[in-house]
Amino acid sequence: MAEESRRLFLALWPEPALAERLHQLAGEAHRDCGGRIMRRETLHLTLAFIGAVGEGRLPELLETLGRIRAPRFRMQLDALGHWAHNHILWAGCTHAPPALPQLAADIRREVAAIGLPASGPAFVPHMTLLRKAHAPCELPVFDALAWDVAEWVLVESRLTPQGADYQPLAAWALG
Ligand code: ATP
Ligand code: MG
Repeated sequence: MAEESRRLFLALWPEPALAERLHQLAGEAHRDCGGRIMRRETLHLTLAFIGAVGEGRLPELLETLGRIRAPRFRMQLDALGHWAHNHILWAGCTHAPPALPQLAADIRREVAAIGLPASGPAFVPHMTLLRKAHAPCELPVFDALAWDVAEWVLVESRLTPQGADYQPLAAWALG
């Protein structure tokens, strides 16, 4: 019988108060760009996308990821942008703290070391706020949102007709 597989990715998940603020920002941008507003509880920043992983490889993946040691960091979400190629309206930072791409690189390296795919496109940190969005005429002006990042998570994505449903499977603290 075929082994069950899970669609997995690693991400940073904002606290409810920050997610609420980002969701409000998405609502403001939506007036100009239209598209589909991401649900508040699904807002995240993807560090690495793995895709389908057989159930049997989960323990090894958890062990490998659990060995990563990385520092806490503060990020300033101070930018909004629109990508024409995938019609995404996103929030991000003008100057990402070096610890952020370093964490993504460490994760991708460790995942690759056990033979799973975790490359994806080059790491461009962003949080998707709207999908199927038109290029904006004018983006909302907003005060930078500070994000103190203290952990990262392994998430399972279940694709449903209503959009992806995300289930956290494990979390690791940053030191
Ligand atoms: P949907 O696919 O229903 O639009 P989604 O893209 O949020 O929703 P997933 O496709 O499961 O859900 O993706 C989970 C996360 O991984 C998202 O942040 C997505 O942008 C990112 N992701 C998906 N596929 C890739 C990929 N091939 N390379 C890099 N990141 C990816
Ligand atoms: Mg997708």
